Amino acid sequence: MNILANDGLSNSGINALKDAGFNVITDKVEQANLIEYINANSVEVILVRSATQVRKDIIDQCSSLKIIGRGGVGMDNIDVDYARDKGILVINTPAASSQSVAELVMAHLFNISRFVYDSNRNMPTEGNTSFKLLKKKYAKGSELRGKTLGVIGFGRIGQFTAKYALGNGMNLVAFDPFLPEVTLSIDIADKKVDITIKTTDLETLLKNSDYISMHVPMPADKKPIISKPEFDLMKEGVKIVNAARGGVIDEDDLIEAVNNGKVGAVALDVFVGEPQPRLDVLSLQNTSLTPHIGAATTEAQDRIGTELAEKIIDFYQK
Ligand code: NAD
Repeated sequence: MNILANDGLSNSGINALKDAGFNVITDKVEQANLIEYINANSVEVILVRSATQVRKDIIDQCSSLKIIGRGGVGMDNIDVDYARDKGILVINTPAASSQSVAELVMAHLFNISRFVYDSNRNMPTEGNTSFKLLKKKYAKGSELRGKTLGVIGFGRIGQFTAKYALGNGMNLVAFDPFLPEVTLSIDIADKKVDITIKTTDLETLLKNSDYISMHVPMPADKKPIISKPEFDLMKEGVKIVNAARGGVIDEDDLIEAVNNGKVGAVALDVFVGEPQPRLDVLSLQNTSLTPHIGAATTEAQDRIGTELAEKIIDFYQK
């Protein structure tokens, strides 16, 4: 039985599937050729990350498909309900990458607090001739300790991020309309510390946060969670990280808020229009950028591969 892992799969996943007797194809098939390829090879399972789209056309025209698997969380590249209505099992691995995304958020928080993104751009070209000028340019950094982080969306990744933030001495406010309170279990050395966080309303979070990190899914109506009215409530110079989905912050309003100084710095891992984000977003001042790599660690990919393999093996054993 053929499994097409079109956006790649970790060795842990490939080996588990091979050991169970499946044939795993890891060649990248172009989107335009997918239907023909799946039919020619009687592919029963297609595994994707965020690049490959599994839309109605594939679901309708590829009758061999039994499982569509997404390595990761968001399934906006798959017509999930349509596939399920047609009797296809749709699986994902929601928890496997939460820790990795939270660590990237922390990397960006430290980065934007000390201008590391800008220093890295300028040191190779100006460090030899303008060292003192650059030193002065990056002299007004700030510490994370003692500052307040506002977490918008207090699910898996929001909670992991909160644990790191608390561990670094930050204060925490969280907004999640579906979770009134969450108890975080933090492992420090050989001790476990439980901290209960009561979530707050969005306005309180926006008014009180020195840093804000987005951890919400894309709303069904695709309306941004943060646009001008929300920026207006924030502290002057607030720093923002978005490693959730591009559209959860209105990019036009973000550009305006960065350019007029309301937002002191922003870090973006996700963009509207991926894989071709807007150039005016990419060239924005005071911005730390990564190309949607939140889940891109060896550890997360191993967990994703193993979890997908387990679910596929389980399906075929039933
Ligand atoms: P999750 O479902 O565990 O948590 C999301 C939380 O958001 C839930 O608790 C939900 O109640 C809350 N929520 C929903 N609508 C909200 C709203 N309007 N305002 C505030 N809270 C709201 O999801 P997760 O695994 O923590 O993922 C969070 C986001 O991270 C998703 O957008 C996901 O696509 C993204 N993500 C990004 C990467 C990356 O590579 N950057 C990797 C994985 C996930």
